[in-house]
Amino acid sequence: MIPFLNLKKLNSQYKNELLKACQRVIDSGWYILGEEVNNFEKEFAKYCGVKYCIGVANGLESLILILRAYKEMGMMKEGDEVIVPANTYIASILAITENKLKPILIEPDIKTYLINPELIEKNITKRTKAILPVHLYGQVCQMDKINKIAKKYNLKVVEDSAQSHGAEYEGIKCGNLGDASGFSFYPGKNLGALGDAGTVTTNDEKLAEIVRALRNYGSHKKYENLYQGINSRLDEIQAAILRVKLKYLDREIEKRRKIVDLYFKNIKNEKIILPRLTGRKSHVWHLFVIRCIERNRLKEYLHKKGIETLIHYPVPPHKQMAYKEWNKFSFPITEKIHREVLSLPISGVQTCHETLKIVEALNDFN
Ligand SMILES: *Cc1c(COP(=O)(O)O)cnc(C)c1O
Repeated sequence: MIPFLNLKKLNSQYKNELLKACQRVIDSGWYILGEEVNNFEKEFAKYCGVKYCIGVANGLESLILILRAYKEMGMMKEGDEVIVPANTYIASILAITENKLKPILIEPDIKTYLINPELIEKNITKRTKAILPVHLYGQVCQMDKINKIAKKYNLKVVEDSAQSHGAEYEGIKCGNLGDASGFSFYPGKNLGALGDAGTVTTNDEKLAEIVRALRNYGSHKKYENLYQGINSRLDEIQAAILRVKLKYLDREIEKRRKIVDLYFKNIKNEKIILPRLTGRKSHVWHLFVIRCIERNRLKEYLHKKGIETLIHYPVPPHKQMAYKEWNKFSFPITEKIHREVLSLPISGVQTCHETLKIVEALNDFN
């Protein structure tokens, strides 16, 4: 069986260094908000090219805390609107509703699966306060257009970079392309911890200061609480692990790009629609997503050939029970995407042989 993603094999590459990192934390006797988190924050800020990075417990909370901080700053209040792509992973939308803000769902571009900037402006109202572009599957959105609209209407741009660590737009890395950005280090992401972890990046000093307090009970200073915060701290041990894996992130991305080259060069089947690449470094290929009208039959066929595939995602947020009130809405492009997409195996430990076997199976599908 060719697995979708062999996490054990992936992390085994760094086993000795990871063990050393864990050992260092154990021996330090300091397990929450210490040197490892401090250093990881500095190193990841440098990687993204931003001034501030605040480690948090997971990707969802990174986005929740950014919006929450804007509320604390008086820039947003309950009922205000945030524009978000309709085909995103539900976490982007949960971050909005958790803050009692109102998500305004926008159809993506069918070619790139990214939010369609042409539709953003039409959906802006007096209550719109932010745009939340999602660099879905690892490819950055059209940030020049999005930032231009945001500037015109005085909106905040909050990037969801949970799938796009290292992806660039005109030489600038995601995490540094809006007012603030949330990242996830869920184990399966391109930069993955050995458990849950996340971070916020921003160049806004005030925002950084508030997020830093909010993640730790709303406190900047021990036993002084300025805000009604939460506990969303990044663990020392996960930070130590992420410091090891961050060193190899660019290598991981390069390896993924090599697999993608093989997919692009060799998949030749008119039933299969390949992803659209918008720029050389714009995509870090968290997922390699193809489309096929007979998606379910293709998935079953590949399974029989020993190839594991996944669907990102089978049900769009507006069709979920969690958002019953939206179930009647129609987003035809989003629904088409959810019916037709299929994610092929990809990772830094996938061999050329495996990739070519996948290609061969796809080319034989009829
Ligand atoms: C993974 C993911 C998140 C949430 O990250 P967690 O660390 O799992 O909370 C948010 N948005 C997108 C697009 C994601 O893929």
